Amino acid sequence: MLATVRGACPHDCPDTCALLTTVQDGVALKVQGNPDHPPTAGVLCKKVSHYAERTYHPGRLLQPLRRVGPKGAGRFEPVSWDDALDDIAGRLRAIAARDPQAILPYSYCGTMGLVQGEAMAGRFFHKLGASLLDRTICASAGAEGLTQTLGARVGMKVEFFAEARLIVIWGSNSIASNLHFWRLANEAKRKGARLVCIDPRRTETAEKCHEHVQLLPGTDAALALALMHELVVHDWLDHDYLDRHTVGWEALRERALQWSPERAAQVCGVPAEQIRALARDYGTTQPAAIRLSYGMQRVRGGGNATRAVACLPALTGAWRHRAGGLLLSTSGYYPVDRAALQRPDLLAGRTPRTINMVQIGDDLLRPASPGFGPAVEAVIVYNSNPLAVAPESGKVVRGFAREDLFTVVLEQFRTDTADYADYLLPATTQLEHWDIHASFGHTDVLLNRPAIAPVGQARTNTEVFRALAVRMGFDDPCFAEDDGSLCRTAFGDRIDYDALREHGFASLPVPDAPFADGNFPTPSGRCEFFSERLARQGLDGLPDHLPNYEAIGSSARYPLAMISPPARNFLNSTFVNVESLRDIEVEPVLEMHPLDAAERGIADASVVRVFNDRGEYLCKARVNARARPGVVNGLGIWWRKLGLQGTNVNELTSQRLTDLGRAPVFYDCLVDVQPA
Ligand code: SF4
Repeated sequence: MLATVRGACPHDCPDTCALLTTVQDGVALKVQGNPDHPPTAGVLCKKVSHYAERTYHPGRLLQPLRRVGPKGAGRFEPVSWDDALDDIAGRLRAIAARDPQAILPYSYCGTMGLVQGEAMAGRFFHKLGASLLDRTICASAGAEGLTQTLGARVGMKVEFFAEARLIVIWGSNSIASNLHFWRLANEAKRKGARLVCIDPRRTETAEKCHEHVQLLPGTDAALALALMHELVVHDWLDHDYLDRHTVGWEALRERALQWSPERAAQVCGVPAEQIRALARDYGTTQPAAIRLSYGMQRVRGGGNATRAVACLPALTGAWRHRAGGLLLSTSGYYPVDRAALQRPDLLAGRTPRTINMVQIGDDLLRPASPGFGPAVEAVIVYNSNPLAVAPESGKVVRGFAREDLFTVVLEQFRTDTADYADYLLPATTQLEHWDIHASFGHTDVLLNRPAIAPVGQARTNTEVFRALAVRMGFDDPCFAEDDGSLCRTAFGDRIDYDALREHGFASLPVPDAPFADGNFPTPSGRCEFFSERLARQGLDGLPDHLPNYEAIGSSARYPLAMISPPARNFLNSTFVNVESLRDIEVEPVLEMHPLDAAERGIADASVVRVFNDRGEYLCKARVNARARPGVVNGLGIWWRKLGLQGTNVNELTSQRLTDLGRAPVFYDCLVDVQPA
């Protein structure tokens, strides 16, 4: 029997596509984009159009496994679900009896689903009283910067980019990581819009824009302030909008006037004339739209940089138009009832410590102390692959290699992290479970129905945490809630669930031009150039340029700045094991400008050693002009064991945190490179 099942892409991507899975006799034959869902328009990226291949991949974990070899060796024996769960519950119970904070959940956006993400897992760890995890590894600097300026993670509706006359793509390789936005930008281009890309790397997207501003990493705030300088000097300002809908204009104006294009040019490493020309375009074109993305906030000043860019549309009144303004994230529009899903009330007055997932390397190696609390004795990893994705991975590896650390990993594949598990539990894919999805790139809710039965003995995350809850003696009724009910709980009666069931997606009632008349969700109701909330914390109330911790030119030993944007056919560390996609990427590479390569005697396609005080990484040099002089691009995120020497680019990145949002600084990293 042939059937088509509606679903949602679970991956950490702003497009949140609606899927149609064709199923015959219980087997998924193909996964396609739903043509009825406007943001998807029937198109999936290459990665997810291979989802059936991924689902039936020969490397899929099909049964629970128990470690038999040393940590990291990846040697396991099969074990029954009951035996595995009994033993895991027993081990957790013993640790919890001493101090439940010694147990750490570790998870992120391996699925963006609200149910298989933090619903039953949240309940379980709250009831247990485990350490809380600060889930900051991707977007929290930008989220905080946006929230301090606009009031929440809100912005333009993506569909209206197609009507813009000027589109500034800031810190995004949209062709690789925001494909459906790129379709809209192209539509605007065909109608005569000008496209400008701001990115330290000459990406596929930059190549296809009219203009590429190839600035140095971590200098975006300086560029934004210089654009403001020009808007002020030439009076390309909407004074009425500034008067009625902003806070702190006079102070911001003074700050901007300190940033002449010449000063910013020195900092950003781009010509002053290019800054002037961009300011002229931005100040004299309406509607003008900025598609900001997360690459630029992965540096020390990432929060401030987001604030500076987010101020721009209010200076020119771009928000008056539905095709004007800025989009970083739409996730703040979604009325998700996280308290009902995750039940923090189960903490029952306890306030466990919080561990920042960015600093897992240090924290797994930290002994017990009055300041830190108990040493971490158990880690439960789900929806994440910290060995590959967390910074300074040499330390992360040493932490997970601790013989006294009890590690449980819920996974679909034998990732780098899975190799360090004491118990490795087979997890379902998106084709095998219920879920419900918000988006951070459009404004629809999507429902994911299971298209096939779980492959092998795979179980949903919710089922695993339910089963553990029973064994731990957690008898609160919430642990019996099934996944269909959890999908309803996610939004309560704030969305039309019946319509969602019928169509697979439902739109939120977001106005076309949400800030045409102000009404920002800030405390003042205005766009906050000056943030009282930040000032009260002793921080600068205005956005400013904060130089990188590891600014280019600040180290004689490590003269090159490295960024680590995603390889086009991978999504974080997902898909690296899908052969048809890995064959396109071929091998881990470091892009180098010909001048930097020649200076070091490095030939194209030769093996190089990339290093700094934190570690070293072996990969192939790709000598080309995608890298600007002084900056190298280490494309990520390869599984370590599929790399050249069992390492990946995160050997080199640091565990320091951003100015706002406690986020990682992956793109704030100095290195040098030698022939290997
Ligand atoms: S990864 Fe992004 S573009 Fe690809 S199918 Fe998923 S949501 Fe769509």
